[in-house]
Amino acid sequence: MKVLLVYPQYPDTFWSFSYVLRFIRKEAFFPPLGLLTIAAMLPNNWEKKLMDLNVSILSDGDLLWADYVFISAMIVQQNSAREIVDRCKMLGVKTVAGGPLFTSAYKELGFDDIDHLVLGEGEITLPLFLSDIRKNHVQHVYTSSERPEITQTPVPLWSLINTKDYATLGIQYSRGCPFDCDFCEVIVLNGRNPRTKTKEQIEAELDALNQLGYEGPVFFVDDNFIGNKQKLKTSILPSIIKWSEANKRPFTFFTQASINLADDEELMRLMTDAGFDTVFIGIESPNTESLSESNKLTNMNRDLLTSIKKLQRHGFQVQGGFIIGFDSDPVSIFESQINFIQSSGIVSAMIGLLYALPGSRLYQRLQEENRLLPSNSGDFLDGRTNFIPRMRYDVLVNGYRNVLNSIYSPRQHYERIKTFFKEYESHARSRVSIKRGDLIGIIKTVWFFGLKENERVYYWRLLIPTLLKTPGKFGLALNLLAIGFHFRKSIEKVQFSPTSLPS
Ligand code: SF4
Repeated sequence: MKVLLVYPQYPDTFWSFSYVLRFIRKEAFFPPLGLLTIAAMLPNNWEKKLMDLNVSILSDGDLLWADYVFISAMIVQQNSAREIVDRCKMLGVKTVAGGPLFTSAYKELGFDDIDHLVLGEGEITLPLFLSDIRKNHVQHVYTSSERPEITQTPVPLWSLINTKDYATLGIQYSRGCPFDCDFCEVIVLNGRNPRTKTKEQIEAELDALNQLGYEGPVFFVDDNFIGNKQKLKTSILPSIIKWSEANKRPFTFFTQASINLADDEELMRLMTDAGFDTVFIGIESPNTESLSESNKLTNMNRDLLTSIKKLQRHGFQVQGGFIIGFDSDPVSIFESQINFIQSSGIVSAMIGLLYALPGSRLYQRLQEENRLLPSNSGDFLDGRTNFIPRMRYDVLVNGYRNVLNSIYSPRQHYERIKTFFKEYESHARSRVSIKRGDLIGIIKTVWFFGLKENERVYYWRLLIPTLLKTPGKFGLALNLLAIGFHFRKSIEKVQFSPTSLPS
């Protein structure tokens, strides 16, 4: 059997990090970990190829080579996924699809024409599909709400990709999150009881990445890395620390976690000892009523700014997710978000309009209230909503646009880096060093930001003192500059619809 695993393209907006990638000479930010894991679960004697459309171009010849084309995607990739399915249909190639996009709403999003939908978690449904292939009696839909343990999940089949195409590689340690935010699809897809891999599995995954000769950042892609704190503290982090020391620390790590990480000194210390230097946190809103409305309980009854600063002081660059468009948002929300983000020193702030993801509790509520709108994007960073907001639509979209333009203006962006550097002390140790490719990237940024772009005054104002006073932060400063530039360029592409509701 010949299987082609195809990963659809991300829209070239905030998600792609395309402008950052140009500086570091990489094709994509992150490899398709889910498809690589599925590939490892397929029979050994099947021929497998993987095409990630973020790094390569898919030809008809590639599709015609395959007996089956497997597709996995997130909701933001739905337009590209649609094109792949249509091409397969035209060429008469059978399609098999799974992953969040199809599991959450394959019917609503018009993917019912895929030959075989292998939904839910692959550990349960893929063996059913494979068994039916052997019996020559394959069905249209395989689904299960069962949440398997992931202690038998294999190491991803890294041999299918060229790791040099990617800015970072990844490991999944856990699935699920104990919290219950109403806009979140994670808890629908993966449940509220975090399921985790064993320390032996994590060591095997680290070994696999090390054997590729890779050195650099590794993203723990978990929904919420600290869903099971006890196991992290007693087993996983000590084991990563030991592995890293034995292998001369080839990796730095980053992940997603809830803000209550800031409440646990021991956990923060173990994470930075293990090499974690960055954490993405869903901050969502400085407005308590909006947090309450969305059931973001972990962010309530705390001083969010104090928690963020604490994380920064403990050695984490905090990246933040922010949402505008809750029913409880007052018209002052735009100003409050700007003020909050500036004071926080969160340099990489992903600010999106609230988007009702199919399957989420928010989606159900808005459906019941008859407020859902048709949408073919799935990208909550593209300047549109998929529901009728409480706030006047033109006020919402114009306010959102002002937040983006303000936060990513060169002045505000550079000021946030300075605010962040005042708190941040790097604790993570790694042998990851500047290589030839990085040097070329540095030269490019000097030419680009320091000489060519209008913002050069801010560039030199940041870099010269950093180089003189805290040279250890110089590489990070360059990275943050490139991210700011990426966000500014991405905003230019956002197609705001300021005067009317999307149709
Ligand atoms: S904390 Fe994050 S992952 Fe957990 S339910 Fe809330 S939004 Fe989802």
